[in-house]
Amino acid sequence: MIQKAADWLYPRHCPLCDRLLKREEPMVCASCAENVPLIRGPVCMRCGRPLGVPPADGENPDAGWSEAFRKEYCADCRKRQHSFEQGFAPYIYRTAVQASLLRMKYTGRAEYAGFYAASIWHAGEGRIRRWRPDAIVPVPVHTGRWRRRGYNQAEELAVHLSALSGIPPAEPVWRKRHTVPQRGLTPQERRKNVRGAFRLRTGAEIPRGILLVDDIYTTGSTLDEMTDVLRAGGARKVWFVCAAIAAGEA
Ligand SMILES: [Zn+2]
Ligand SMILES: [Zn+2]
Repeated sequence: MIQKAADWLYPRHCPLCDRLLKREEPMVCASCAENVPLIRGPVCMRCGRPLGVPPADGENPDAGWSEAFRKEYCADCRKRQHSFEQGFAPYIYRTAVQASLLRMKYTGRAEYAGFYAASIWHAGEGRIRRWRPDAIVPVPVHTGRWRRRGYNQAEELAVHLSALSGIPPAEPVWRKRHTVPQRGLTPQERRKNVRGAFRLRTGAEIPRGILLVDDIYTTGSTLDEMTDVLRAGGARKVWFVCAAIAAGEA
């Protein structure tokens, strides 16, 4: 009875298909758990992007990988020096995950953050423990955007990841200006677009080792800019995790 009331008051949705979940169901529905695979196989050593043609949703996750694609860095990281050390995402940004992250960002589904943080932790607990960051820092949104939406999806991810890992969250950086959406911009335009967008908070103590958190990784320009600002403030090493990464060209 009490549980029924809780289900009614706080309905849970599958983060991948948005179907209402029954009380006995886990975080994600059985069909999505089966059809949306975590990233496996060879990935870029810098950004964690899959190397080669990843299998489609619902395909055998081990299919489609070819020896020819076993390079160390993705095409993007071979072209561009990144400021951050290393990072990864559990999912490829496409189909169900893409639609899901758009709902998380734009239509109030902040509740999905628990699922994505759990996926990040499941996919990379060992790496995160090896890096030993002192704090988890979400990529901030501009205050105006925060007011309109009532939350920042990166901050929601950071809070859940902090609870799972025991690494404290910190917000030493704020977003000085609103940037135009990165979608549709070239990598060079993206970097220019975010330049000067972030500022250190006055008097903020900057942790030495920082794990940045964001929802989507495309070219890493936002994370590079955040890293530069944090390093200028005294951070020594900066890593990142995202909920999903664009497949890109291998
Ligand atoms: Zn589902
Ligand atoms: Zn890469």
